[in-house]
Amino acid sequence: SRAAGRNVFRFFDPAMQALANQRSQLEAELRQAVARRQFIVYYQPQVTYEGDVVGAEALVRWQHPIRGIVSPTTFISLAEDMGLMDEIGRQVLHRICTDLENWQREGLARDLVVAINVSAQEFKVDNFVYRFREIMREHHVPSHSVKVELTESMMVDHIEDVITKMQALRSNEVSISLDDFGTGYSSLSYLGRFPIDQIKIDQTFVREMQNDAAMASIIRSIIMLGQSLNLSIIAEGVETEQQRDFLHAQGCLLYQGYWYSKPIPGEQFADLLNTPGRF
Ligand code: C2E
Ligand code: CA
Ligand code: CA
Ligand code: CA
Repeated sequence: SRAAGRNVFRFFDPAMQALANQRSQLEAELRQAVARRQFIVYYQPQVTYEGDVVGAEALVRWQHPIRGIVSPTTFISLAEDMGLMDEIGRQVLHRICTDLENWQREGLARDLVVAINVSAQEFKVDNFVYRFREIMREHHVPSHSVKVELTESMMVDHIEDVITKMQALRSNEVSISLDDFGTGYSSLSYLGRFPIDQIKIDQTFVREMQNDAAMASIIRSIIMLGQSLNLSIIAEGVETEQQRDFLHAQGCLLYQGYWYSKPIPGEQFADLLNTPGRF
């Protein structure tokens, strides 16, 4: 009929068709990646002013059979749309716990805390905390060896559920870091309501603080706020010694960024742990 015909997409646009093909190709490959467990984990050191490596952020990579190492920025949001992030997160946690188990068996990483990114989709799952704990237990990883990184945007909906899960993690000695701090829209008051251990200053602030007096004031305020709430404070995206020193002068005592190291494969990270005084 004419009415139905009006809703038919009549114009064939080769560019749009190409994009749609690319996306469905990527979707197919991503499904395969999950089935074939093609996700690996890189580690980026978290370092004190004195140069001690006290932790690492675990960052997922897709080891694609043809494209090589694929960055999470190209597939995380698609994986979320496809509902795959929960399963990917589980595979990532298995990898991390396997590495931690090996390192600790070798006497490395006893006091090391690995920070694990958890997406909203994973955290929403009812038995998230239970499963998380089970995977750690399976690999004999002590709970104080891991930290969960959550983002502000996760603290907006279903607040009671979020708080309950955070408390459950912390009662199991898993600490919580608030990632990308200051970039979300939530009001600061939530800081007092949510049980967190650390705030992570977002790299956009770090990048701009030296050329932008307002950014520098924001950083100073974040650090003071964190201190007054007794939270640990870490800065990410530290690329220069000057940035590190500026942050240090403001009272931020932990740093992560290219100035120390890019995210590196687990074996390389273990070598780094074996080389005290590296930084
Ligand atoms: P994020 O959690 O904010 O992670 C920090 C990102 O900044 C990482 O990008 C890291 O490689 C990069 N970075 C670290 N230091 C520097 C620096 O000095 N300069 C600059 N320019 N960048 C730096 P990456 O590894 O590409 O990860 C991107 C995002 O993907 C992460 O942002 C996180 O949101 C997500 N992601 C990564 N791994 C996982 C994971 O295992 N699970 C989940 N749910 N998300 C993940
Ligand atoms: Ca993170
Ligand atoms: Ca971050
Ligand atoms: Ca970020």
